Amino acid sequence: MFTTESHCLADRGKSQEADRDQPCRTGIVSLVTRCWLLLVFCSLISPVLGQAPLISVGEENWQEPWVPDLRHPDRQIAIPLERRVDVLILGDGYLSAEQTQFEQDTQKWYDRFVSLTPFRELRGAFRVRGLWKPSQERAAAEQKSWFHTAVDTGKVVNATSAQTVAAVFAALDEIEINRAALDRRLSHAYVVMLIKDARQRNPSGVSRRLTSPDRQRQVAVAFGADSHHEFGHAYSGLRDEYINQPGKTAQHPPQQPLSLFTVSNLGYTRSAEQLPWSHLSPGSPVNPDRASLIGLLWIGGGPEEGVWHSEARCLMNGTHENWDLQKTRRGVGLRDRQRFCFWCEEIVVARTWHRTGQLGTSDNGETLWQEWIKIRPQYQKMFQVPERIQRQNTANADARLEQARIFERPQ
Ligand SMILES: [Zn+2]
Repeated sequence: MFTTESHCLADRGKSQEADRDQPCRTGIVSLVTRCWLLLVFCSLISPVLGQAPLISVGEENWQEPWVPDLRHPDRQIAIPLERRVDVLILGDGYLSAEQTQFEQDTQKWYDRFVSLTPFRELRGAFRVRGLWKPSQERAAAEQKSWFHTAVDTGKVVNATSAQTVAAVFAALDEIEINRAALDRRLSHAYVVMLIKDARQRNPSGVSRRLTSPDRQRQVAVAFGADSHHEFGHAYSGLRDEYINQPGKTAQHPPQQPLSLFTVSNLGYTRSAEQLPWSHLSPGSPVNPDRASLIGLLWIGGGPEEGVWHSEARCLMNGTHENWDLQKTRRGVGLRDRQRFCFWCEEIVVARTWHRTGQLGTSDNGETLWQEWIKIRPQYQKMFQVPERIQRQNTANADARLEQARIFERPQ
């Protein structure tokens, strides 16, 4: 076949010396055209070939990653790409005709993510993308959906089967992600699994750490409904603040000294001195109002006794066996879907500060926490913590929260 390119080569053969350094314009134009056509063709047939599209959300926030400059509210600190945190959103139980819905749900997840302090302020550090994988069936007990999560009567009942593990790691291997790891754990890549069950809704969720089939890597995955709460577990290591073991007493020593790696939103002491959130308690510089109900001992965190959290409501709270405020009945929802409590917020910021390389190079958790304590006043100022605590105090007073019977005062 006599192509434009071979014609050009033939011409060159005739007068090689004359045009050795002249570009073959016809060939280049042809090549560019062909490459372009190939790209168009590939993008058209990629769904057919199973190369599912990657859906970027909020790209303008994270393309050139950054964290806020705590000293200068109008400035940002650029962070290297290897310090950026990946959030990969997967969909299980979405049927092949529901790609648009998955894309919309991915956008919705992101919109809510950046509506929450501190993720809104830290949005420059999180690259959020969805990976489309169509399922043959809804997620159900039979585990025939793409990621094989087992769902029964509105709950995720098995998120760690060998099939789920294999499918999640296959998805991670399919795309470019930040593969930084601490021990074997991916420290800068997290998965959010949106799930459609037979009700076409997200079942009640869980957070699980999955280990790859070759045992070399672990990834934290937030499954199911209210995946922002589950993401709080997966990304920040935050614990549930609700009671799910009524009457049980926690067997956990008070955390001293504090370490960045183990500091918890739960406290295991009544001692004002040892309480990890004592700097937020009534009478502290950021919370001078002694009538405040922030930073007290609100009962429960798994077990009912011997464990406390710092506010009445938080995104990390829930329902289960919670008392109502008057302690007259159980099963009361205390999740605040709009906000983390101030102590959870600070833990998220401190851990993000570490992951983005802002706490120095130590790998010692206690040293890192000491570094964080030095930075804490800058964070409190930039994030307007005292002003927001004051507003929350007003809201709590309006809700007559002081009449609640599910808190104690540190001693
Ligand atoms: Zn909290």
